[in-house]
Amino acid sequence: MGRKQTGWVTDDGSIVADKRPMTISPQVAESISRVLRSIRQHLRMDIAFVTQFLGSSRIFRNVDAAHQVAGVEVGAVLPIAAGYCQHVVAGRLPELIADTSRVPLAMTIAETASIPIGAHLSVPIRLENGRVYGTFCCFSHRAMPELGEPELELMHTFSRLIAREMHEDVARDERLEQMTERVHAAIFSGDPQIVFQPILRLRDDTIIGVEALSRFATEPRRTPDVWFAEANEAGMGEMLELVALRRALQRARDLPDTLGIHVNISPNTVVSPDLARVLDTFDPKRIVIEITEHEPVADYEPILRALAPLRAKGMKVAIDDAGAGYSSLRHVLMMRPDVVKLDISLTRGLDKDPVRHAMAAALAEFSRRTGTVIVAEGVETDAELAALRELGVTEVQGYLIARPQLVPELLKILRDS
Ligand code: C2E
Ligand code: CA
Ligand code: CA
Repeated sequence: MGRKQTGWVTDDGSIVADKRPMTISPQVAESISRVLRSIRQHLRMDIAFVTQFLGSSRIFRNVDAAHQVAGVEVGAVLPIAAGYCQHVVAGRLPELIADTSRVPLAMTIAETASIPIGAHLSVPIRLENGRVYGTFCCFSHRAMPELGEPELELMHTFSRLIAREMHEDVARDERLEQMTERVHAAIFSGDPQIVFQPILRLRDDTIIGVEALSRFATEPRRTPDVWFAEANEAGMGEMLELVALRRALQRARDLPDTLGIHVNISPNTVVSPDLARVLDTFDPKRIVIEITEHEPVADYEPILRALAPLRAKGMKVAIDDAGAGYSSLRHVLMMRPDVVKLDISLTRGLDKDPVRHAMAAALAEFSRRTGTVIVAEGVETDAELAALRELGVTEVQGYLIARPQLVPELLKILRDS
């Protein structure tokens, strides 16, 4: 049997294995188990199993056995160097060994005597992208001289079947893996940078606060909401938000202490035990926590519980993107915010659109009656600004006033204003 060609065997014959565990869904695991059972029974072998290569180890993922064999159980981990696999992969042992006693190298492997193994079949499970997941193996305690090419061919066929079963799980895992790597790369390269966008109080046309916004220089160039969404999907949303928050509060130290600092925090991160520690690095009375929901909030209780001590210290709570999204009005009802931020989709063109105008008017009226500050976001034109003034909106933010800026540019704007 010849050497395998593609990149899973190095020149010295050792296996280059994946470092990452792949998560196989229960349905796929179930279906692989059925495959194992049917081939094991068909070939009349004692054990059939799938192992996954991970670094220098292999993990038993699925096992079908006529009776239990110590060490060959789902979840068991062995060094790749031990056992048959490495030798088979490197071409030192054939994929099909009908009688181990006739193969001197096989007799040097400890398991051959300890289990014992009389006949052994082992084929790689090659994924659609050419990468090798691991191996699909069968063995029997006694030698089986009747095994030949047809049986080996069957093993290869089933190995392809197993790979196909895994395809979706593998694709999902790879996507997550790529996301994780991108987010790590971004953080290690110093992302996110923080820019600040001024918030103008209309009563006296004074800049009374800034919103901290993240900027990512890492390729692929994408807006911060995409970065945060991706980090979230990869299970790193909280981490990335806290990195951004810590940096925002650091940068904000260079700003005049008259300014409120708005920071963006998702409901998931609000309940993080680490949040308070990061927020504690800054004057609480200047902090406005903008809570955006990118997914519907099922249970407000933990969020309210997490916010209570922060509010007690003097921090304010804003509902971001009011008038857009899933249930931002429910958000307002449940959280009794100090600030409501009117979503950009309502501000845009509200001077010309009676429906948007009516909605903004309703929220402005709401804020007057409840003593809530209302900030209109995304103000780009004088006409929008005039309409918002007329409605009694308290504060505005948008390109018309200023784009988000790095600290030095922002200081210049503040001096000039
Ligand atoms: P957001 O919190 O609603 O932030 C306002 C967005 O509107 C910002 O987009 C801002 O640059 C943009 N904007 C401001 N004025 C105007 C305008 O006049 N016209 C238009 N067209 N856009 C305007 P940006 O910076 O791309 O951020 C997008 C979203 O990403 C943010 O929406 C926020 O949800 C999220 N985000 C950004 N930075 C952070 C962060 O540090 N942490 C967290 N958790 N989320 C962040
Ligand atoms: Ca915001
Ligand atoms: Ca917003």
